[in-house]
Amino acid sequence: MSKVLIVAEHLDGKLNPSTARCVTCAKSFDAESIDIVVLCAAPDAVAAQAAQIAGVNKVLTVANAANAHALAQVWAPQVAQLASGYTHVLGPSTTFGKDLMPCIAALLGVAQVSDIMAVDGAHAFKRPIYAGNAIISVTAPADKTLVATVRTASWPAAGDGGSAGIESASVSATLPTHTRFVGLKQGKSDRPDLQSASKVVSGGRALGSSEAFSIIYSLADKLGAGVGASRAAVDAGYVPSDLQVGQTGKIISPELYIAIGISGAIQHLTGIKDAGTIVAINKDGDAPIFEIADFGLVGDLFQIVPELEKALG
Ligand SMILES: Cc1cc2nc3c(=O)[nH]c(=O)nc-3n(C[C@H](O)[C@H](O)[C@H](O)COP(=O)(O)OP(=O)(O)OC[C@H]3O[C@@H](n4cnc5c(N)ncnc54)[C@H](O)[C@@H]3O)c2cc1C
Repeated sequence: MSKVLIVAEHLDGKLNPSTARCVTCAKSFDAESIDIVVLCAAPDAVAAQAAQIAGVNKVLTVANAANAHALAQVWAPQVAQLASGYTHVLGPSTTFGKDLMPCIAALLGVAQVSDIMAVDGAHAFKRPIYAGNAIISVTAPADKTLVATVRTASWPAAGDGGSAGIESASVSATLPTHTRFVGLKQGKSDRPDLQSASKVVSGGRALGSSEAFSIIYSLADKLGAGVGASRAAVDAGYVPSDLQVGQTGKIISPELYIAIGISGAIQHLTGIKDAGTIVAINKDGDAPIFEIADFGLVGDLFQIVPELEKALG
C-alpha cells in the first residue's frame, strides 16, 4: 500500500490551494495514508490549514528559520530525509514544485515523474507531452520512492472537513549555505489569483499597448475575474510575465475563460485545456481559438468589450 507525503506550498502564512489538489491526486493511489509536510520558520498557521483538508492523516511540521523562504536547495535535503518512510513524495506542478521536486528526486537518486494528470495505478500515470498534444503513459519502478509533480489543473482541490493530527518532525539533514534568499518580486493585485480564479479574462497581442489592456482589467473587475494574457502580450510589455497563460506560463482550469484578441496558438491552448467554458472574442472568424471555444464573438474587441461591460451594468 502507498504512503504519500505531500510538500505544502505556502506563502505569507497561507496554504496554496495547489496542496489540496495534490491530496486529490494522492487519493486516487488508494493510499494507506496521506501526510503533508509544512516547512516554515513558524509553521503553525499553515499546518492548521493543511490539517483541515479532508483525507489527510497527519501534518508534519519542520520549524526552522532557514525554511522562512521556499528555497529548493534548502528544503530538498529535509524532505529527502523525511521521505524514508514513504512510497510517494508529491508536490504541485507550479513554479514552486517544479523548482523543489527535481532536487528531492536527485537527492533520492530517482527520476522525477512530471505533471501527473491521471493515475492508472500506484506507479502508473498519464502525463501530457508535446504541449499537451499527446498523452503518455509512464510506469515508474515500484521498488523506489516515487517523486512526482502533480498537474494541478487536472485535479480539483480536496475539500475541507479533515482534522489531521499535527506533529513536529525532527530533521537532521545538513542544509547547504550556497543558496540564500535575496528577495521576492511579485505583482500585487486585489484581483483573484490567476491560478485559482474561477473566472479569468485574458488579453492578447491585439490589445496593442499596456494602456489599452486596461479594458481587460476593467471587464475582469466587473466579473470578479482574474486576469491573464498571451505570451505575445507579455513579450510586448503590455502586462507582467506572471500573467502569462500557456505552455511556458500558467496552466489554469477556471470555470470560465474569456480570450480576447488571442489567436489560439497551441502553446496558449495548452494552458486552458481544463477550462470549463471558453469564450473567444476575435475579429478573425477563422482564428484557431474558435475551434475550442464554446462561445465565439467575431468582431472588433474595442467595440465588443465596452458593450459587454455596459451590459453587465
Ligand atoms: C516554445 C514556445 C512556448 C510558448 N509559450 C506560450 C505560452 O505559454 N503562452 C502563449 O500565449 N503563447 C506561447 N507561445 C507563443 C505562441 O506561439 C503565440 O505566438 C502567442 O500565443 C500569440 O499570442 P496572441 O494570440 O496574443 O497573438 P497573435 O497570434 O498575434 O493573435 C492576435 C489575435 O488577435 C486578433 N485581433 C487583432 N486585432 C483585433 C481586434 N481589434 N479585435 C479582435 N481581435 C483582434 C487577431 O485576429 C489574432 O487572432 C510560445 C511559443 C513557443 C515557440
